[in-house]
Amino acid sequence: MVEQQFKARGIANDGVLQSMESVPREEILPKPLREFAYQDSALPIAHDQTISQPYTVAFMCEAVLLTGAEKVLEVGTGSGYAACVLARLAEQVFSIERIPELAAVARRRIAVLDYGNVKVVCGDGTLGLPDEAPFDATVVTAAAPKLPSAYAQQIVDGGQVVIPIGDAQNLQRMCRFIHHGDDFLREDLGGFVFVPLIGDDGW
Ligand code: SAH
Repeated sequence: MVEQQFKARGIANDGVLQSMESVPREEILPKPLREFAYQDSALPIAHDQTISQPYTVAFMCEAVLLTGAEKVLEVGTGSGYAACVLARLAEQVFSIERIPELAAVARRRIAVLDYGNVKVVCGDGTLGLPDEAPFDATVVTAAAPKLPSAYAQQIVDGGQVVIPIGDAQNLQRMCRFIHHGDDFLREDLGGFVFVPLIGDDGW
């Protein structure tokens, strides 16, 4: 997986490659899908949601430029897979999921895998997580129509938000926003497909 799915497509960060190698994706998937764990694709989980393609998780983790000391907000816990990968790259991960059943299953799996620095919260992630702010970085794994204003308010100066933006149905652009003073520098990192970010400041 590391050679073919990541290195060959330009993922170069050693920490990201090691983290991807060490998180057992098969143990995060529903049992009938475990044999497909290392396939190069997104896979269905409950409630019409998906566990992201491994490459997409690696791409976002590399894009967010972590050093290991950060407090990170992930929006869209889903299976909990990306939260586990982030757990190895940051000091603390808060992951928010709007569907209570998904949050509960992910919380259990993350506990079994012993990622003690991940906290799963159930709620509307388009509002961020004001009680735990500010964050050094925010990673959003569902597609938004625009950058929700809470993410801009809840990020430290110099912090980054990596988020797919675009139509709910069509291709989205992966964007990295870097906070500088009163401004956000926006970079376009390419096309991806995600499920929609549904909530007060999303779809
Ligand atoms: N990071 C996940 C991929 C999740 S797919 C993984 O590694 O498996 C996107 C998830 O975002 C879905 O579970 C969906 O329910 C959730 N989601 C959509 N809108 C949301 C919102 N406003 N707040 C929190 N979660 C949301």
